[in-house]
Amino acid sequence: MTEPDPGQPGMDHLDGNMLAGPLAEVFAVDLTTATGRCASCGRTGPVAGLRVYAHAPGVVARCPACEAVMLRLVRTPTNAWLDLRGAAYLRVPMPAEPLMAPGLAPPVM
Ligand SMILES: [Zn+2]
Repeated sequence: MTEPDPGQPGMDHLDGNMLAGPLAEVFAVDLTTATGRCASCGRTGPVAGLRVYAHAPGVVARCPACEAVMLRLVRTPTNAWLDLRGAAYLRVPMPAEPLMAPGLAPPVM
C-alpha cells in the first residue's frame, strides 16, 4: 500500500487546470471597475482611481494615498506580465449567478 502523494491531485484538491474557467471569467471583465486594496497602506478604492504612469516600460499604477506601486503591466510581443504584488486583493464586481457547488455543471437553460 502506498501513501497518497500530497503533490498529486486527488480527493482533497484539483490541479490548476480547473482555474481556467473561473480566471477567464474574472479576466474578461473591465478590471477598472474592480476595487483594490493597497498592500502597503491598506487604502481601498477603485482601480480607476489609481495613479498610472505609462512612460515606464509598460504601465505602473500607484496608490493615490501612499504612492506604493500596486500594479505593473508589461506587454512584450509574445507575453503579458502582470505584477499585482502591491495589491492585497482586487474585488471584481460580477453579474449575479445562482450559487452552486464547485465542480457542478450550470443548469441547462
Ligand atoms: Zn497605499
